[in-house]
Amino acid sequence: MSTCTDSVVGDILSSWRYDISGISPEMRTDYEQHLATCKHCRARQRLHRAIDVVLISVSTLSIMAFLLALAVIHHIEPLRTAAVVMHLEHTQLVLTLQAAAILGLLASLVAWILVAIATPAPVFLTGVAIEQARVLQDRIPEELRIRIRA
Ligand SMILES: [Zn+2]
Repeated sequence: MSTCTDSVVGDILSSWRYDISGISPEMRTDYEQHLATCKHCRARQRLHRAIDVVLISVSTLSIMAFLLALAVIHHIEPLRTAAVVMHLEHTQLVLTLQAAAILGLLASLVAWILVAIATPAPVFLTGVAIEQARVLQDRIPEELRIRIRA
């Protein structure tokens, strides 16, 4: 594993989880330059953005799973009244399956919002989407041009 070429800048970047999207463009240049030259910080930045994407994906999937579960429970009568016994510390909680699924859905929504606020995942994913759109935009006219020529 490589080490950081400038531990002062490296420590600052580390405390931000290598996310410089929130700071002003004129302040960003020093950090961008460091990221461009320091292999260690670049690798860590990639790792942190990968973690963000995993977190937002897992919470999104979790929301979808609970929505699907609620839809299934809603359509199957015996499931609607089925009970779930939860053991929380020393108390026993008896919920209907439907209530448990609603609680799960709420918890996943809270997790999703926390990830969206605390990480640059939305900014990062929007950036990726814009980049992809640009690539497609560049590619489409080229393919059309080839087809017209042929
Ligand atoms: Zn570094």
